[in-house]
Amino acid sequence: MDRLEQYADENNIPIMQKDGILFLKDYIEKNGVKSILEIGSAIGYSAIQMASVNPNIKIVTIERDEIRYNEAIKNIGKFNLDKQIDIILGDALETEISSKFDLIFIDAAKAQYIKFFEKYKSNLADGGVIISDNLSFHGLTEPDVVIRNRNLRQLVGKINKYKDFLENNSEFSTEFFDIGDGIAVSKRN
Ligand code: SAH
Ligand code: MG
Repeated sequence: MDRLEQYADENNIPIMQKDGILFLKDYIEKNGVKSILEIGSAIGYSAIQMASVNPNIKIVTIERDEIRYNEAIKNIGKFNLDKQIDIILGDALETEISSKFDLIFIDAAKAQYIKFFEKYKSNLADGGVIISDNLSFHGLTEPDVVIRNRNLRQLVGKINKYKDFLENNSEFSTEFFDIGDGIAVSKRN
């Protein structure tokens, strides 16, 4: 696991922060989560962490970057988790998944979070939950932060839009946690 964290660090791969992953694993354990859909596998780090909570957990994870996808396959194999983790190479916005999941974990392109949420909410099992990562985006989503870079400012604007979307959603209720890089837990009303 340390090697994965080091590889991610050296190659600028934004894997989940340690306290964020602990929060996620704790949630999975306490709520008896058995099936997980992850949007954004990167090198498989979070999927491996989540699968290791319990051998009965099944994960489907989607990654669009072929290099990361191949790295993830390698890592999942090293941890002997191929039976628990199914990785799909493709754009999650164009992937069709028919099964339902206890937990949907959104951790891919931050500008597309509303689209991921709208597309995959129908894959949520009864009593299931959608968890989204990176909502504080290194603290940049705070109202008083001035961002000079235009692209970054637009991205942060989109994350704030997603937060508004969750706060004003009539179908789901969301709790925000200041853990890791900011985590939202959304449940259907
Ligand atoms: N969940 C991982 C980190 C994911 S980083 C962990 O914590 O270990 C985000 C990943 O999402 C990147 O590897 C990126 O290539 C992928 N991604 C971004 N947009 C995507 C999309 N539309 N479909 C599939 N993967 C996407
Ligand atoms: Mg993340």
